[in-house]
Amino acid sequence: MSRDVLITGGGTGIGRAIARHFAEQGERVIVTGRRPGPLKELADETGVRALVCDHAEPAALTELLAELPDRLDVLVNNAGGNTDFDADGESDLASYARDFRANLDANLVTAALTTRCVDDRLASGGAVVHIGSIAADQGAGAYGASKAGLATWNLDLAARFGPRGITANVVSPGYIADTEFFRDQLANETRERLIASTATGRPGSPEDIAGAVAFLASPAARHITGQVLNVNGGAHTTR
Ligand code: NDP
Repeated sequence: MSRDVLITGGGTGIGRAIARHFAEQGERVIVTGRRPGPLKELADETGVRALVCDHAEPAALTELLAELPDRLDVLVNNAGGNTDFDADGESDLASYARDFRANLDANLVTAALTTRCVDDRLASGGAVVHIGSIAADQGAGAYGASKAGLATWNLDLAARFGPRGITANVVSPGYIADTEFFRDQLANETRERLIASTATGRPGSPEDIAGAVAFLASPAARHITGQVLNVNGGAHTTR
């Protein structure tokens, strides 16, 4: 039986690969994002349903809710990114506060608001998967802090959702190529350093992340909850 899957920020990069993966499995997929262009392109290519929404805005989420099915099986909180790439470089305290909050909004508040918004519609047997980051373990300023916060907030979510038969986990990518994450600001030396830090000797692909998300949302992963699944080619290892 087909499942209903909501993927936030699904118009590009990792979210797009996750959307393709679920669509190819025959699931009913809804993708969201702020820009209509990438969403329409993906919808035309794959038949997924695309809805414009800024997940940091409660009013936009309320409008989105009116368009969603009564029951959701899988929520993927993928929307986000390092908003420092868009910062104007101002260094006064007010600018620092604005830029710090932008990262919290983009990565932590989006996931919290979206999950809260669809909470009542998440079905038993369902799964919530957040896209975290290796930055949660390695730094990267407010961006890393926002992703670390996401993983910590997920612990409470997993405890709350467990009795309803819903899992909640984080997939934490290392460097993933072929997305809009770095804008055009990734220097060759940095790229080479990121690849050299892996044991696999290659960047991750959006499909690497899609596979991990699909596993956590699958029947095989029903006893896995409150976890962080690192997908980084060994760039950050755990015991
Ligand atoms: P992209 O920039 O390609 O994808 C991010 C997507 O999120 C875009 O489609 C963007 O669309 C959407 N988005 C951002 N903010 C919002 C918002 N407020 N509301 C709705 N949609 C939003 O980069 P990636 O695919 O790489 O990033 C996906 C996730 O993976 C992010 O959470 C990122 O932090 C994480 N990640 C990426 C890594 C990498 O190396 N690429 C490494 C570790 C983690 P739009 O602008 O149209 O809204």
